[in-house]
Amino acid sequence: MSIYVFRPSSSSSQAADPPGPRPLCFSLYQYLRKVPKNGGVIIANPGETMTGTYAYGPAAGQHRWLIANWGETYRINCPFCSDTRHRLWINHRYGQPDAAMGGQPMKALAICFNEDCLKDYDNREQLFEWIFEIRRRGYEVPRISEAGVTQAATCLAPCTWPGDMCPLPDFALSYLAQRGFYADTVQRFDLRFCVRSAEFPSAAGRIIAPIVMHGTMIGWQGRSIGDGTYGPKYYTKPQFPKRMALYNLDAARGRSFGVVFEGITDVWRLPGYGMALLGKTMSLQQQVLLREAFPEAQPIILCLDPETWDNCAMKIHEMIQGWPNPIVRVKLPDGCDPADMDHASLLNAILTQSAAVGVPLPV
Ligand SMILES: [Zn+2]
Repeated sequence: MSIYVFRPSSSSSQAADPPGPRPLCFSLYQYLRKVPKNGGVIIANPGETMTGTYAYGPAAGQHRWLIANWGETYRINCPFCSDTRHRLWINHRYGQPDAAMGGQPMKALAICFNEDCLKDYDNREQLFEWIFEIRRRGYEVPRISEAGVTQAATCLAPCTWPGDMCPLPDFALSYLAQRGFYADTVQRFDLRFCVRSAEFPSAAGRIIAPIVMHGTMIGWQGRSIGDGTYGPKYYTKPQFPKRMALYNLDAARGRSFGVVFEGITDVWRLPGYGMALLGKTMSLQQQVLLREAFPEAQPIILCLDPETWDNCAMKIHEMIQGWPNPIVRVKLPDGCDPADMDHASLLNAILTQSAAVGVPLPV
């Protein structure tokens, strides 16, 4: 994720160009400086356009955007709470006419990640007024530059399997069985074996797990069979933007709580609640996906590999601790990754440690 910061000098009323590429929606970017105590505008994901679908969201009880990638987003200090860490995110398409809403300006493309201040209708209206000063000069639709848009966001396009696929052969099944995974895991996660691939030769001979979001396969990750003598343990579809995806999100969405793991095999251990970052960090997009998947303030459990408890897991914890969702950081015994445990012990560790910090989990 690329971020650059622009802090306008308070003495100048003239808009200045930020360093780096011109913002996709320059007028919106400038207007944000009218918001009280904004603290300067930070641009995240410069040049990337928003992707998503407009759909009926049962949680919200109304039509809303299901955003796959926020793309370029402007971050300021939220004027409605004590935020000093630029946790009010405003998408570059904020204020654009929404065809699905009869051309009404889109006011929902902003979120306060500190105290969820924009859940409140009056706050949404007030923010819109501050930005566009509608009382004085009417609402002008901000213009989005087409020229600056990069193609990064399109990497989440639907994809297919890496090559010639077949059901898992016996030696792959017995390898999984050694690790405590059986036919139910294979079926649930649609695991297949890559026989050969002209396009991705390194995928051949691996167990391939499809990465699916909103019902569409958008990527895959291959697990080597055995100890990884023939190359790395994991081989992910080249150029797949892991930071835009959460593995198994469709299954975990809306459950009574969610568990964030690092890798896909951790998720296989806790299929109903688990999601994988496909790494040790949580990107802006992954935060949005997670927040949207648990809108009723369900608890979020961070269950990374134990050696990251006081660094990577701690960093994620700090980033999202202002959410309405209770956050619990679970620590597993040293040297014991979630996938190494059996289902019951893993679930028990999560339930026990959550209850111990006052977050009883409804299972
Ligand atoms: Zn706020």
